[in-house]
Amino acid sequence: GWLSGYVAAVTGGASGIGRSIVERYLEEGASTVVVLDRDAERLAELQAACPDRLVTLQGDVREAASHEAMVAAALKHGGRLDVLVGNAGVFDFNRPLRSYTPNRLNATLEEIIAVNVRGYLLSAMASADALATSRGSMIFTCSIAGFHAGCAGTLYTISKHAVVGLVRQLALELAPQVRVNGVGPGGTLTDLRGTAALGHAERSIGIHLEETARTIAGSTPLGFAQEPRDHAGLYVLLASRENARAITGEVLMSDGGVGVRGV
Ligand code: NAD
Repeated sequence: GWLSGYVAAVTGGASGIGRSIVERYLEEGASTVVVLDRDAERLAELQAACPDRLVTLQGDVREAASHEAMVAAALKHGGRLDVLVGNAGVFDFNRPLRSYTPNRLNATLEEIIAVNVRGYLLSAMASADALATSRGSMIFTCSIAGFHAGCAGTLYTISKHAVVGLVRQLALELAPQVRVNGVGPGGTLTDLRGTAALGHAERSIGIHLEETARTIAGSTPLGFAQEPRDHAGLYVLLASRENARAITGEVLMSDGGVGVRGV
């Protein structure tokens, strides 16, 4: 496999795109994959499905200690860290600005930035030294909403645009030891949740899965709704020193062609 002997850490790896990355990394020969997620039940399911070479940790990406524990687990169980995947995120369900009150806006903005942006920064901070030692790389899940309007509400769009800045700035700051890249999925059939601030912690984009699939397929040039496994190979490619040695500061889009469409 392309990642034979690699040690990886993945946030939000218990579900959706993250879980697909974890499964592909194991298939590609990773020797240890550490998964940090807040969902204990899904971590247990994943551990049962992949009993070997997997270490699961329950924690919140808004806390620095969760990331420190994740990196410590990689070093303890794998002896090194080759790739950090920042992926845990929450959505705003396309909420328009005018539907917020100022208090709701503050609380929702704080939560979305804390998970989608601060969570990635804390991952980067906790893993930078170990990745510099291994000449490894970071990969962050961005989005079509990191480049275009109309794919989400303002708050989620801001958070994913911020991830593009994070990728570019850290690519320079951490060069030449660590490569830093992103993957930008388009609409993907997952259990992506909303914010507690809006009472949407249990609301999922997957609730009306068939309707969601039809909507995404209808607005995507390639004509289908993406599945998590459609993106996983890009995380393999970017992690691979052999295949992506010269790639840093890039966000590889995986959006079915949505990004090329003008009016
Ligand atoms: P998902 O809900 O299936 O997976 C996200 C995982 O992150 C879950 O296991 C969840 O428990 C975990 N998580 C959320 N908040 C957390 C926190 N505070 N601490 C720890 N773990 C937390 O959704 P997904 O669609 O696979 O989302 C993965 C990434 O993909 C997110 O960054 C999302 O913004 C991005 N993305 C999704 C789509 C899409 O259409 N589904 C499109 C573009 C980008």
